[in-house]
Amino acid sequence: MAAQIINGKEIAAEIRSELKEKVAALTAQGRTPGLAVVLVGDNPASQVYVRQKKKACHEIGIYSEEHRLPATITQEELLALIDRLNADPKIHGILVQLPLPDGLDENEVIERIDPKKDVDGFHPISVGRLSIGLEAFVPCTPAGVLELVKRTGTAISGKKVVVLGRSNIVGKPAARLFLQENATVTICHSRTQNIEEECRQADILIVAVGRPKLVKKDWVKPGAVVIDVGINRVDGQIVGDVDFDEVKEVAGAITPVPGGVGPMTIAMLMKNTVGAVDVDH
Ligand code: NAD
Repeated sequence: MAAQIINGKEIAAEIRSELKEKVAALTAQGRTPGLAVVLVGDNPASQVYVRQKKKACHEIGIYSEEHRLPATITQEELLALIDRLNADPKIHGILVQLPLPDGLDENEVIERIDPKKDVDGFHPISVGRLSIGLEAFVPCTPAGVLELVKRTGTAISGKKVVVLGRSNIVGKPAARLFLQENATVTICHSRTQNIEEECRQADILIVAVGRPKLVKKDWVKPGAVVIDVGINRVDGQIVGDVDFDEVKEVAGAITPVPGGVGPMTIAMLMKNTVGAVDVDH
């Protein structure tokens, strides 16, 4: 039986419309959520993401500010901007679009963000809080992955989850999040041996490696839920890390690329920004 196609675009639109109501209520109390997006340099993919984030803010009624800076900016100037945004009461969330150009220290910039405004969930305090099970800003892409799995109606507790990729942005926080949901979690990466065999054990397979169509049909247990985080540009087209046409024949449910995890990432950023208005951690 062919897999259920998980429509991230539709689910993200539902989430945005729920948020719109919340934002209207907050605005009526004079507490409109505000997001500052900092973009350094002219990375084309980053420019697309920033534009999408701005559009989503506008649709939902979130106040947004865009700070575009040249790649020649100094570390000190960038830190000074973060300090100003930290102190600005209109701004509840600060997002620095990564990667930063060479020569700038990403970790230092992230650590400078007030953890109460860390809507990307990359600050070591947010990472630590998530790791020990405290309330925390959860990185947007893994949060979107979890939401998509939940919406398939799949029970997560006790299930075997395999995460392919161990980046700080996707793989590691995804693993922490599913552990929090009481799954049995395995993380695979470029040095993992017998990776196909590991993947075949998964009830839920999360793929975030940045290798076009790496995951084939025989890597997937029949009926598994497959979430493809990958965004790869190949011959002018966007393809995922999973060979969708093949894998949909065996999976129980699968996300397409585009239209799966991508729109969810932005919806979760909006959710984190709205939540930041009342944050007490
Ligand atoms: P990354 O390059 O930081 O990390 C890739 C990880 O994959 C590494 O841990 C590496 O060990 C592992 N890896 C590489 N080759 C492998 C292989 N052959 N087998 C097993 N593991 C391998 O990437 P990232 O930032 O985590 O992003 C991963 C993918 O997800 C990229 O395509 C990126 O564009 C995409 N992405 C999508 C969204 C979204 O909103 N949908 C958000 C972030 C990243």
